[in-house]
Parts: sequence; C-alpha cells; structure tokens
Amino acid sequence: MLTVMKFGGSILSSESQLKRVTQVVKKRREREDVLIVVSALKGVTNSLIGIANKALEGSDFKEEFVAVKKLHLEMLSGIKAKNYVKETEKGLLEEFSLLERALQGILCLKELSPRSLDLVQTAGERLCVLLLFAYLLDENIQAIAFDGRKQGIVTNSDFGRARPLMDETKKKLEKTKGFVHSNVLIFPGFFGVDKQDNVVSFGRGGSDFSAAILANLFRANSLELWKDVDGFLTSDPKIVEDAVVLSNLSYEEAEELGYFGAKIIYPRTVVPLKEKGIKIVIKNIQKPDKIGTIVSNERLEQKIVAKSIAVKRNIASITLRSPIFVGQAGVLEKIFYEIAKANISVGLVATSETGISFTIDEKSLPRTREAISRIGLVLEEASFDKDLAMVGVVGEGLKKKPGVAGFVFGCLAENKVNVEMISQGSSGINISFIIKESDLHKTVKALHKKIIQNPKMKNSLIK
Ligand code: ASP
Ligand code: MG
Repeated sequence: MLTVMKFGGSILSSESQLKRVTQVVKKRREREDVLIVVSALKGVTNSLIGIANKALEGSDFKEEFVAVKKLHLEMLSGIKAKNYVKETEKGLLEEFSLLERALQGILCLKELSPRSLDLVQTAGERLCVLLLFAYLLDENIQAIAFDGRKQGIVTNSDFGRARPLMDETKKKLEKTKGFVHSNVLIFPGFFGVDKQDNVVSFGRGGSDFSAAILANLFRANSLELWKDVDGFLTSDPKIVEDAVVLSNLSYEEAEELGYFGAKIIYPRTVVPLKEKGIKIVIKNIQKPDKIGTIVSNERLEQKIVAKSIAVKRNIASITLRSPIFVGQAGVLEKIFYEIAKANISVGLVATSETGISFTIDEKSLPRTREAISRIGLVLEEASFDKDLAMVGVVGEGLKKKPGVAGFVFGCLAENKVNVEMISQGSSGINISFIIKESDLHKTVKALHKKIIQNPKMKNSLIK
C-alpha cells in the first residue's frame, strides 16, 4: 500500500518541524510505502517572488537573497551526520548559485518573463527536498530525492499555470516506480518541466496538485495533505467562531470549496484523484494520529443539505447594458473575448436580453475597465461596483432537496440583506450570491445558524 504524503510550507519553518515531519514519515514507513511531496519552507515562495520583482526594478536584492540562503543553511544544524551536512550544503549552494545567476539576468535585462519567474519562484521546493532528504537519511530512513527537473512531472509550456502531460510523465517516471517499495521517494511540488526542459509552475498553492498527479501515476491508496489545521470547516472561523471541522466531503464539494479560496486545497488537486478514486485525507501535524477531513467518492452524510457556508471577499461586479443586446448574436462573445485576452478570471455571470452582469476579483478592476473600453459596443450603461463579497452554500445535498434556494434567500430577507446577484452553480452543489461586503458577517452567521447548525437540516427537512 502506498501513501503520498504532502507537507505544506506552513509546517516547514524550523529544524524542530523538519524533525517532526521526519518522525511522522518514519512511523508510517513501518507499515506502508511512502512517497513525499514538499512545498517550500514557510514564506520562501513569497520571498523569492519579492526578490525577482526587486531585480526587475533594478534594486539591490542582496539582503533578501542572503536571508533566504541563511534560512536554509541554518536548517543544516538539525542533521547529525557530518557527511550528510556537507553534501546537503553543497546541493543548497549549487541551487542558490543558479538562482543568483537567474536573478542577475533579470536585473541586467530589467525583464521578468513568466518563464524566468517560474524558475525563480519554484527554487524553494527544490531546496526543501534537499533538506528533508538529509533529515530522513539521518534517521536511517532509506530514501531517494528527485529535483523535479530530470525526474518529475512533464507539463505543457503554460508558465504559471502548467497542465500536466500524463502519458509523458508516466513514461518519464517508469523507472522510478521500481524503487518505491524499498525507498521513500521525495519530490518537489509546485512545478514540472516542459519538453524543452523549462521549469513550469502550476500556480500558487500548486504543490497539492503535484502530489495528486504523482498519487495518480503511482496508484497510491491515499493522498495525505499535512498542515497545521484539521481540515475543511463549516465556515470561515474569522466570522463564525463555532465553525467545526467537516469529517467527510465528496470530491466535488472539496473542489467547490477550493475555488472559493479555502486555503486547505488547491482546486485542481481533485481531478487526478477522482479519476482513480484516491481519497484525500487532511492531517494536522500537531495531532498526527487524528484523522481530519476525508475527501472521497463515498457519499457519506448525504442527507446533510449543505456542508459549508463559503466566503470570498474583495469582489467587484460589472454590469453592461445596451439596447443592441436584444436579439443580437455574438454580444457575449465580444465581451468575453476582450476579458479573456486581458487574462481576467470571471466568477459569477448573470445575463438577460438587455444586459449582462459578472463578477471579478477586485484587483482586476482597472484591467477590466480597459478591456471593456476595447469591446467596441455602444453601451447604454457600464457600471462598476466594488466592496462586494461572494457567499456560497455548498453541499451535495442541494442537488436533491427542493426549496433550498427559497430557504437561503428567505433567511437573507429576514436579515434585511440585499442580494446583488445570484447563481445556482452549474455543478448543482452550490448556491452562490453576491452581497455588500458590509453585510458579510451578519449573512454568514445567520446562514450558518439556520442551515449548518440546524438539526432539522441535517436530515431530510425542507418542507
Ligand atoms: N510554495 C508554493 C506556494 O507557496 C507552492 C505550494 O506551497 O503549494 O504557492
Ligand atoms: Mg498549499
């Protein structure tokens, strides 16, 4: 039986944490085969992106660079065997010298292409592999480390948002499969390489996705995501103090919550796992024997109408109206063509014959205004609203229960919350709507109480 264990950056920030991770692996290794995927040490990806941008501006990045280097070299003091310390130090310094050359290039050319950014921002994962590898060897755990470039995931060349090429990856990793019974294999998360050997990242948070791809290809029994929290919650604990951990979710529910920005999981993670029925287990490093949320095909707790009230802040909405929309073909295409060209991701969409409204992340608002000015349609109205929030009521149970939408919006009416826009998600397992950010707290608290904490809703109610 093989378990893929992915360790997130939030639990990789000190010597003692690396030791704790090593002990968790050691214990597991006694009964199972283990493949490890690591993120960068805590905060390192952000630092690397910051350094790359400094180089781009032509500023001196030395201080920040030295700090990242020091952080990694200090971790060597947790390794007892001198030869491992030496070899690891050599590996770290090699990676840092490559990184420094890349940064000098950015500084010199004052150019930071998506390709260069991917090379720089993924260095933290490669460095972390070297460290954890040494910690494992130091505890007499037989292991093999891969740096992800020669042996790893093959992707297309979509920098910052790579798509894995599964057949090519399978071929590339064929030989490594033979080692998995006798060794713990360690891979860096977050990136793959394209056919020209460029490093291509999966986007922020993408280490979960790397782990899922490897779990698929190695036919793992489960993927464990190790963190410092127990799992998915019934709502945002910053709003709902008594939000509780969810014990079971379907793949679709986890994906939906991931899209809402639940930091627990990177949304694309679900796809390679669902395909093979591999379950995800969220594990808290503080309580290694406890099982957190399990994400699987088993539709347990199916009777629960909704499992979570999800929240996304900093939303803006755009409404476009024009008389020529009526009966005119291709209007939506014109609008979304410009939006797509500006690489703006759209959230909810609502249309009528005479108008269209859609939401975006607030930070894309200036770019969206520009894109809309390029559409070339005569608009009667173009309004832009911000300080909005999106709320989603998420759960498989929504597919089966009639009347949930009425119940949700009834609850909003009782609380005098004005709804700006509604969408019953195409997945059928969420009802999402947009409200003013200032109404967010009262809305979420009320829905959590009325839907999640309501014992009647746990069974077959909604009459
Ligand atoms: N280290 C990367 C990030 O912070 C990837 C990951 O941890 O998933 O986004
Ligand atoms: Mg993550």
